[in-house]
Amino acid sequence: MTVRLGDNSLGYIIDRVDVGILVVTETLDVVLWNRFMEANSKVLATSIVGKNLLDYFPELPGQWLDKKVRSVQLLNNFAFTSWQQRPYLFQFKHHRPITGGVTHMYQNCTFIPFEGSGGESLVCITLFDVTDTAISHREVLQAHADLEELSHRDALTGVYNRRFMEAELHKEFKRVERYGGKLSVLFLDLDFFKRVNDTYGHQAGDKVLIEVTQRISDVVRATDYVARYGGEEFAIILPETDIAGALIFANRVREVIEKTPVLYEEHALSVTASLGLSEYREGIESYDALLDQSDKALYMAKKQGRNRVACY
Ligand code: GH3
Ligand code: MG
Ligand code: MG
Repeated sequence: MTVRLGDNSLGYIIDRVDVGILVVTETLDVVLWNRFMEANSKVLATSIVGKNLLDYFPELPGQWLDKKVRSVQLLNNFAFTSWQQRPYLFQFKHHRPITGGVTHMYQNCTFIPFEGSGGESLVCITLFDVTDTAISHREVLQAHADLEELSHRDALTGVYNRRFMEAELHKEFKRVERYGGKLSVLFLDLDFFKRVNDTYGHQAGDKVLIEVTQRISDVVRATDYVARYGGEEFAIILPETDIAGALIFANRVREVIEKTPVLYEEHALSVTASLGLSEYREGIESYDALLDQSDKALYMAKKQGRNRVACY
């Protein structure tokens, strides 16, 4: 037995699928407009059929649409546009309760050329609501970016970690080596920090580390990199800064640490730091060597009595 669809069956199906379906002529006159299109555009088929699409929706990308329709007709081939190329064709509201910064319904579209019963060149455009997919995709990208950012940071203080700092220093080093310019590296180590832990406990030590980092971050430029190199040791990369500039900066850092004690519970903890610095000079082989020089300078600052700055 052959089952036949009734006369109205196709219209019934076209109106009930959760997909936008419209048919246009090559001059973008509307031939078909299904219920999805009605519901989302608030324009009824009885109004728009026979009229020009762009007259009703002047905000549509007219030129682009015109070209698309003509090209699928000419090539007699399907075309597909994804929300990643063009977030939406029609400016429909989305139906998500939580918007998350999304203003419109994201759409994937297909363009299907076919011939009308009188031989007219027609194009069927379908519109898929892919708002959920687009939002999940965006959330995944954001999570990746957040994770990547986190992987560059020290968990306690929030400044860069050693691995990221070394990678950035490597790049800066290559830059000055190739194009010239200035670059200084500063090492900072807190003085007698073990005593803070031994006397007031590890929590107090942590509080000091957080506070000191904040103070350093307040005095650096946006282009400088502050990193926690190890326990109570910090490295600061100063691009476009020679040793004279770095010395002024290092003394400012030393002063903001020394000037105000760190408050922990009812205690005012006096903290000082020693700093060692060195600058890039032609002939220095690698960024490691630069770090090594700053480390040696730091050792000198410690030996000379601490709470001071030494240059390599
Ligand atoms: P110096 O002036 O020679 O630098 O003396 P110091 O006591 O600061 O140096 P030392 O390297 O002997 O001790 C560093 C101490 O830093 C050891 C450890 O107790 C402390 N420390 C390292 N990492 C952390 C941390 O994450 N939190 C806390 N609270 N203390 C830390
Ligand atoms: Mg120390
Ligand atoms: Mg140390």
